[in-house]
Parts: sequence; C-alpha cells; structure tokens
Amino acid sequence: MTPRNVIVIGSGPAGLTAGLYTARANMQPLLIEGLEAGGQLMLTTLVENWPGHRDGIMGPDLMTEMRAQTEKFGAEIIQAHVTEVDLCSTPFTVKTADATYTAKTVIIATGATARLLGLPSERSLMGHGVSTCATCDGYFFRNQDIAVVGGGDSAMEEAMYLTRFASKVTLVHRRSTLRASKIMQDKARANPKIAWRLNTEVERITDTDKGEVTGIVLRDAATGAIDEVPVSGVFVAIGHTPNTGLFKHQLELDANGYIVTHDGAKTNIPGVFACGDVQDHIYRQAITAAGSGCMAALDAEHYLDGIPEHLQS
Ligand code: NAP
Repeated sequence: MTPRNVIVIGSGPAGLTAGLYTARANMQPLLIEGLEAGGQLMLTTLVENWPGHRDGIMGPDLMTEMRAQTEKFGAEIIQAHVTEVDLCSTPFTVKTADATYTAKTVIIATGATARLLGLPSERSLMGHGVSTCATCDGYFFRNQDIAVVGGGDSAMEEAMYLTRFASKVTLVHRRSTLRASKIMQDKARANPKIAWRLNTEVERITDTDKGEVTGIVLRDAATGAIDEVPVSGVFVAIGHTPNTGLFKHQLELDANGYIVTHDGAKTNIPGVFACGDVQDHIYRQAITAAGSGCMAALDAEHYLDGIPEHLQS
C-alpha cells in the first residue's frame, strides 16, 4: 500500500480548510469526515461573523459550501469514522471500520464538543435560542433577557460578555458555590446586569412547540421548588470536551485533554499536525479554526518538502 501524502481527520472549518489547502498544493489529501460531519457549525443557525457574508450565512450552508470547495480541488472526502491511529511509526496508520490507510503526514482536526445538559428541549431548541457560543450569538439578543448555565470561568466570561447586549442575564448554577476563579467571580458579581440563581438546576427550556425559547424552568436543588424565568435565549456554558480519545498516549495533551501544538500546528510527533478546537481552548471560532487549518496544511507541505524546521516560516 503506497502511503498517502496526507490524511486529514475531521470536517469542520479547520479540517476542510486543511483539505482545501493541501488539495490546491497537489498533495491529493484524503479527508475522513467523522461522525459529526461539518462540526459544531452544523448546530448553529445564522453565522454573522464569517467574513465575506455581509448578511450572514446559515451554519450548515457554510459547511456545505466549504465541503464542495474542498472537493472541487481534488480532495477525496469519505464518510467514515476513524477508530484507531498509530502515530508512533512511519508511515502513520489510520483505521476506519472498513479500511486501513497509511500516510506520510496526518492533520488532526477532530474539534471539541460543547458539553450539554442532556435535556430534550435543549437539543430541539439548539440554534433557535439555545446556544453554546456567546461570541457567535450574543448579538442576536440585544435588549432581551437571557440565561447562562454553568459555574466555571466560561460561564462567568460568557455572562459578562452577554451583558453588553442583553438587558438582564440570569446565571444558573447547580451548586451553591462556583467553580470559577475568584477574580472572575468577583467581576461577574460586580456586574449589576447579572442575576444569580445558585443551587438551581435546569428542568427544561420552553417552548419546543413554538420552536423558540420563551423561558427556562428551574428547580431549586434544596427544596425542589419549580419556577419559570422568562428568557429569549439560553447559553449553555458547562465546558467543552476535546475529541482526543484516539490520540491519548501518542500525542502530548494538556491537563484538559487538548493537543499541545507549537510553532504553528506542529505536535510532539514530526509529521503530525493539529488545528482547530482540538488544540484551541481559547478562541474557539470558525474563523480561527479555519486559519489554523491553513497553518496545518502549510506545515504539512513544508514537512513533505523536507524544508528544515528553522526555515519553515
Ligand atoms: P469547567 O471549569 O469544567 O466548569 C464547568 C461548569 O459547568 C462547572 O461549574 C460545572 O458544575 C458545570 N457543569 C458541568 N456539567 C454540568 C451539567 N451536566 N449540568 C449543570 N452544570 C454542569 O469548564 P469551563 O468553565 O469551560 O472552563 C474550562 C477551563 O478553561 C478551566 O480551566 C477554566 O479556568 C478555563 N477558562 C478560563 C477562562 C479565563 O480565565 N478567562 C475563561 C474560560 C475558561 P460543578 O461546578 O457543579 O461541577
């Protein structure tokens, strides 16, 4: 079996951009889409911060366009899920349920998954008032009352950011103490637009019949008392899980399980590159993921060309 020049794992903005650049560099990439083809943008509605679309574009439409553009330049895209990788010897091996591939370079773009509460109403209203990204969707909630769920730094940061738009942000956390760092707690507590509902769990989000968010039904964890707070948006900010299970014990991961990259998209294994949310727990934007996909593609191209590392930028 002749090894491929490059295998890209993942089909969000990072993976498809890596596929596009490697295809246009004549590297004949194989791109393996994964179970959630298109990534997190498939769960969103209108995307207004993707440059070049002044009226915005629906998340799934953006991903359809990106996929078609990548395919147009010759990337081979297959609908499969990677079950196993061997990055410890070259050529690298990537297995799916049906096939085994080898490659001289691998670009990992498997993303991160936003943790969800697991409520049916949350899933059905996702993109219709329920969001996991304040930066992406905060602007839609100008002068409205909304809720943020979570008690970590992300929840504090998102709640504070959202007060720029919303008239009131109700912060709902399941315990009476917050996990967030003291400095973030203090900042959030000093914000007069944030109302606190601690020791409170989310029972459900209304109104699935209308297909839009009208309120959040809350249960007091101590008394069991139920009440409903009218809101038009719910931001779930209970953390992300990087999709790195396949790479444990092979690639260097940080304490939270994200792939550690250095000097662009390089990992600790020469020839293996990572891009997008699987290695970025800070920016987490479609545009930054796409940018890092481009970096990974150029890094892989330089690696294949045998350009010495100190001359690669
Ligand atoms: P996190 O620290 O893991 O906090 C997640 C929060 O969500 C916790 O309060 C947790 O509640 C709650 N939660 C988890 N599952 C839940 C469920 N099923 N139902 C209800 N609540 C649930 O995640 P994060 O806030 O995203 O932060 C991740 C890392 O990034 C942290 O190291 C953080 O410090 C860092 N970060 C830093 C900044 C900053 O410094 N500016 C900003 C964002 C993130 P419990 O507390 O009850 O477990």
